[in-house]
Amino acid sequence: HAGIAMYRAKETGRNNFQFFTPAMNDHAMERLRIENNLRSALEREEFFLHYQPQVDLATGRVLGMEVLIRWQHPVLGMVPPDRFIELAEEIGLIVPIGAWVLRTACRQCVAWQRAGLGQLRVAVNLSPLQFYQEDLVHTVKGVLAESGLAPHLLELELTESMMMNDIEHAVCILRDLKSIGVHLSIDDFGTGYSSLSYLKRFPIDLLKIDQSFVRDITIDPDDEAIVLSIISLAHSLRLKVIAEGVETEAQLAYLKRHGCDYMQGYYFSRPLPAQAFEQLLRQRRSLSQDTSHLLPLV
Ligand code: C2E
Ligand code: MG
Ligand code: MG
Ligand code: MG
Repeated sequence: HAGIAMYRAKETGRNNFQFFTPAMNDHAMERLRIENNLRSALEREEFFLHYQPQVDLATGRVLGMEVLIRWQHPVLGMVPPDRFIELAEEIGLIVPIGAWVLRTACRQCVAWQRAGLGQLRVAVNLSPLQFYQEDLVHTVKGVLAESGLAPHLLELELTESMMMNDIEHAVCILRDLKSIGVHLSIDDFGTGYSSLSYLKRFPIDLLKIDQSFVRDITIDPDDEAIVLSIISLAHSLRLKVIAEGVETEAQLAYLKRHGCDYMQGYYFSRPLPAQAFEQLLRQRRSLSQDTSHLLPLV
């Protein structure tokens, strides 16, 4: 799509239209190109999912996985979520895309369960627009019913900022979701503008420590202090806590030593396509028969 295109400048929050031509800045053209292709990506079946294992630090068991969307475009190549999720949100496409992710993830989880690979929990990221859709609870219920997944095996990942926008409304939605029996977590915890007094009002189950704090945990006393505070905060509120972005044995050992419940990161496994993830599960099961998925962790 070269030539002149009309582009709604959403980031200004106003309904003003601007003209973009190929002579305009690369960033705007790139956005427009992605936007145009994004509109047909679902029906062209260009999305697929990666699964990243989440490990129980006390037992070494794989307790479940986070689902991460991937977009393979025939010309653009692999477009990472950081380059299209926000845009999909702005143009409203994240709602059908998110519903597809949820449906596909739940079906996959049940398929693995039926294949004897265990009662894994599947964590799905929700975008703010999805969260505030009036039919969210209805959609989630429908997907659970259609896929046959037990509600407690679905976890929805939310962010602090999406809930701080309208706290009263957010609390209502969270309660409705909780009443179905799904698990709720706060993703990238510590990076948003969280308010501790509101945190206790949210019926959530899990905090996910953002990877930016985990990265230098063994060398930066500030990050260390933040991570230790989050672990202790979570446990005081009777929540579980998972560390994201664990890449080294030293980080893992540190987190385990300080009572972090779960971990997720390249050290154990990168996000994997379904087949590779299944292979990982099978390998770990065959490693030890009855204590399935056991990993010798530090
Ligand atoms: P997130 O939910 O915080 O996901 C974690 C990100 O960290 C993923 O990036 C994952 O690949 C990456 N990661 C995992 N372990 C490590 C590690 O050890 N080191 C490092 N450096 N990175 C690690 P990814 O897949 O590129 O996704 C980026 C973000 O895009 C996600 O952050 C999430 O906010 C969003 N996203 C991904 N899939 C979906 C989706 O289906 N729906 C929505 N709404 N957002 C999604
Ligand atoms: Mg996430
Ligand atoms: Mg995260
Ligand atoms: Mg993130």
